[in-house]
Amino acid sequence: MGNDGKEMLKSAQEIIRKTSLRLKLDQTTVRRLLEPDYIHEMQLSVKMDDTRVKLFTAYRIQHSRSLGPYKGGIRFHPGVSREEVQALATLMTIKCAVAGLPFGGGKGGVEVDPKNLSERELERLSKAYAKMITPFIGPYFDIPAPDVNTNPKIMEWMTDEYIKTVKTSYNFQPASTNFNYLRATFTGKPVDKGGSLGRTEATGRGGVIILMALLSKLNDQLSMNNAQLNSNLRNSLKIGNWKLKIPQITIAIQGFGNVGYYFSKIASEQGFKVIAVSDSKGAVFVPEGLDPKTTLHCKEEKGTVAGCYCKGSVCDIRFGTPINNDSLIELPVDVLIPSALENVIHKGNMDRIKAKIIVEMANGPITSEAYEYLTEKGILIVPDVLANCGGVVVSYLEWLQNIENTSWPQKKVNMKLQKLMEHAFETIWERTVKKNKINLKESAFEVAIERIVQGFQS
Ligand code: NAD
Repeated sequence: MGNDGKEMLKSAQEIIRKTSLRLKLDQTTVRRLLEPDYIHEMQLSVKMDDTRVKLFTAYRIQHSRSLGPYKGGIRFHPGVSREEVQALATLMTIKCAVAGLPFGGGKGGVEVDPKNLSERELERLSKAYAKMITPFIGPYFDIPAPDVNTNPKIMEWMTDEYIKTVKTSYNFQPASTNFNYLRATFTGKPVDKGGSLGRTEATGRGGVIILMALLSKLNDQLSMNNAQLNSNLRNSLKIGNWKLKIPQITIAIQGFGNVGYYFSKIASEQGFKVIAVSDSKGAVFVPEGLDPKTTLHCKEEKGTVAGCYCKGSVCDIRFGTPINNDSLIELPVDVLIPSALENVIHKGNMDRIKAKIIVEMANGPITSEAYEYLTEKGILIVPDVLANCGGVVVSYLEWLQNIENTSWPQKKVNMKLQKLMEHAFETIWERTVKKNKINLKESAFEVAIERIVQGFQS
């Protein structure tokens, strides 16, 4: 991260500037979009197991509250920097606006390698962070969540510390009936501590919902031979006379962690043919289509998906074709799902990409140069701010359940997720069609920035 943080901030601000130019926004408005409302830089004192006290630099950056409380995760990583946290906070404002949520954007981070801490030290660090940010968070002001190297357990520690600090600082005595109201300050909590069912798979599920919505629109385009309005769009896409029948659509997925695994599982359940998956150690290519559930078991046993050739409940590593990660990205599939790291599609490999559609499930997997090149080539890219917003959508649903002091069955959460994701997609697609262009990212940023600017005025 470090220098990467500076690059990340530069590119997030660049796209906001470009969008603002197209929307003809004045300079003051552009500055409000670029500059965060608050930058909190802190030093956390944490007692180590050997009784020494160590200081850790930490941040909470609140970018914009134009549409509602600041919302965004907290990451624990040695490379955390002010610029990186600011870039991520800015992108959270955009993502929440794209998703149509009543939230703004924020992000937190602690410069630490959690792998070097014992569990007790990790707990003390998490609690020190929560205590420090207590004065400037709250269910209607700023709502943190997990991010890189933080998880539901850490959210539970932070929630407990936050509530304890509020109570002791303000002599606050919540009635037992509105206890969950304070729990709404953090999302991504364990389910038995006020977390929401469906959160674990929400990002992958949201991505599949978006892919299906996109295919349905493309099918409409293909069937409208005489459509005057959309002819350019149809002609400029690489879809040609492609038959968009789900069981024939092949998918390759880079990354088999939370996002990649649930994307592959839910896509398979919907009938798509997932033919390749990868992790950091390698990839497997199964032309007939693989079974994600058994592939996960095989990965758990072997430590990697490489060579996990699984059909039904049986895996036989003699038949799987292990391929390297680069080959996965270059496979001639219909849909490519980068769901591991940033900048994996770049100048060096962009001309070897053969997929017709790329759904950016990871954050920023395509460099700006490659983005332009692939779009020119007619490859349809669903931008990360839309494709992977399922996680923050379910965080919003968790917040709502806490505020209302209730908990919904998973079916209800999934239905609400689907409705919100489809609505977000529809708005962005409509603008894309209206402007007769195929860059969904430009449309997404335009929609988001218009909403945020409208919020400035209210
Ligand atoms: P994760 O740590 O659970 O999984 C990451 C996966 O990527 C692992 O399987 C790892 O082996 C694999 N990987 C690492 N290097 C690789 C390489 N060179 N080639 C192939 N695979 C490689 O992380 P995650 O939560 O699934 O997040 C993945 C991406 O999605 C990140 O960019 C994250 O920021 C983004 N994202 C996640 C969420 C969420 O809810 N988890 C939400 C929005 C965005």
